[in-house]
Amino acid sequence: MSENAGEKMPFQTEVAQLLHLMIHSLYSHKEIFLRELISNAADAIDKARFTALSDPSLLGDDKEFAIDVRLDRKAGTIVVSDNGIGMNRDELVQNLGTIARSGTKAFVQGLSGDQAKDMSLIGQFGVGFYSAFMVADKVDVVSKRMGEEGAWRWSSEGLGEFVVAPAEREKRGTEITLHLRKDEENYLEEWTVRDVVRKYSEFVSWPVRLVYDKTEKEGEGDDAKETVKSVTETLNAKSALWRETPSKVTEEQYKEFYRHISHVPDDPLLWTHTKVEGTNEFSVLAYVPSKAPYGIFQTDFVRGVKLYVKRVFVMDEAKELLPTWLRFVQGVVDSEDLPLNVSREILQDNKQVDAIRKHLTKKVLESLQKFSEEKPDEYAAWWRELGSVLKEGFYMNWQFLDELKELLRFGTTFADARNGLTSLKEYVSRMPESQKEIYVLTGESPEAARHSPHLEALEAKGYEVLLMTDPVDEWMLQFLRE
Ligand code: ADP
Ligand code: MG
Repeated sequence: MSENAGEKMPFQTEVAQLLHLMIHSLYSHKEIFLRELISNAADAIDKARFTALSDPSLLGDDKEFAIDVRLDRKAGTIVVSDNGIGMNRDELVQNLGTIARSGTKAFVQGLSGDQAKDMSLIGQFGVGFYSAFMVADKVDVVSKRMGEEGAWRWSSEGLGEFVVAPAEREKRGTEITLHLRKDEENYLEEWTVRDVVRKYSEFVSWPVRLVYDKTEKEGEGDDAKETVKSVTETLNAKSALWRETPSKVTEEQYKEFYRHISHVPDDPLLWTHTKVEGTNEFSVLAYVPSKAPYGIFQTDFVRGVKLYVKRVFVMDEAKELLPTWLRFVQGVVDSEDLPLNVSREILQDNKQVDAIRKHLTKKVLESLQKFSEEKPDEYAAWWRELGSVLKEGFYMNWQFLDELKELLRFGTTFADARNGLTSLKEYVSRMPESQKEIYVLTGESPEAARHSPHLEALEAKGYEVLLMTDPVDEWMLQFLRE
C-alpha cells in the first residue's frame, strides 16, 4: 500500500488550539520535546515489561529494552524509537489526536504566554507528545502494538489534522520521526542532543542511546580519505536513585531526580528518603513540591507516587499509597514484598500497602514539621500555596490530627506574624493570662474579617484574633476542640 493512502482525521479542538500555541507562542525551552518523547518511550517500555511478566513469549527475541535517538543530518530528522508496548490504529488515533483528561479547555486557556510557566504546564498536564511540533514541521509515528499483527503510521504537520495509514514495521514498539524546522537544526548536532538528554533524562530507567554518523579522516592532504561510521553512545548511566543509601546521594542528585519525575523546572520544597526493613520491606523517596501542581484543585486530579516492585516499574499514579490530602507529593515507592502482578484492586485492600501509606504519610508530615521549624518564613509561603490541601486531612482521617494541627497556619491580627500567618502554638504562646480561649473571626478576606464589630473589643483587651478566610476553616474548627 502506498504511504500516502490513508485516512485524514481532524484533531480534537483543544489539541488544535494547543498545537497552534506551541508552534506560534513558545520560544524558550523548546528542548523539552526530547524529554517528553523519551519519557513516553520509557513509559511504553515499562508497560511492555509489565505485560510480558504474565506472558514472556510476547517479547520474542527482542528482550533488550532501549530507547534510541538517531540523528540524520542529510534528511534533517531526529528519530526517537523504542521497543515498548507500541500502539495499534485506534490507540494512535486516540492518544495522538485527543487529550484524554478533562479540564483540557481550562488547561489550554491557562497557557498564558509566560514561557517558563507554560512549559512546566505542558509537562505536568501530560500533553508532552505534541511538544514535538515546537521543533518539527512534520512528525511521523510508526508503531506496532505488542502481540498484534500489522503496523500503523500516523503523520501530521500539526495543522488541524493527521493521517493514519497501514505501515511496515517488523519489531514491536514505536518510532517517531521529527522533520526539523529549518531554524531548529541544532538538534542534529550530537553535542546538543547529548547535553539535553543528560540534563533531562539522566534518570530514565532504560538505556537512552544516541546514534549518529561520524566522519573520520585518514591520511593527510590530498590523499586523505573520509570514512563515515555509525556511532552508538549510551547517554544515561544512573541506577535507581531511590535504592541508594541516602548519605551517598547529593542534594543536587535529589533535585535533579525531582525535576525528572515531576517535569517541572523548580526545586522541591523538601524530600524524605527512607528504607524500611523487616517483613514488609520497601524504599521510599518522596518530594513535596514548592508550588501547587497544576490542576490540584480539580476533581479529577490524580498524581500519587510511582510504584515499583523489586525495581520493576509497576504503575504510575499509585494514589492508594497516599491519602488524597497529600496528593501533591511525588516520588517513588519500591516494594520488596508486593506481588509483581499487583493490580489496583489489590492495592485498595492490602496490609502492606496500608503500612506503606502510613509510613509515607508520617514521613512527609515529619519533614514538613521539621521544615516549618527550621525555615518558618519559607513554610508560611508554602502554606499559602498548598496549605488548603493539607487542611483536607482534618476531615478525611483520624490518624494524624496531632501532626496536622502543628502544621496549620492562620491569618491573624498579630502585627508581626510571618507573612501574616501564625501557628496555633505561636498564638497560644502570646495569649495573656486572662485569655482562656482562642478567638476567631471569619470573612471572605482578611480585610473583610477585620471589619467585624467585635474586633475592637477584643483588641482592647489585648487579645489576638485569628482571621479565617477559607470556607473550610469554620468547618475544621469542629475538629480542633481543645
Ligand atoms: P502522557 O505521556 O502524559 O500520557 P503524552 O502527550 O506525552 O501524554 O502522550 C500521550 C499518549 O500517547 C501516552 O499516554 C501514550 O498512551 C501514547 N504514547 C506516546 N508515545 C508513545 C510511545 N512511544 N509508545 C507507546 N505509546 C505512546
Ligand atoms: Mg508523556
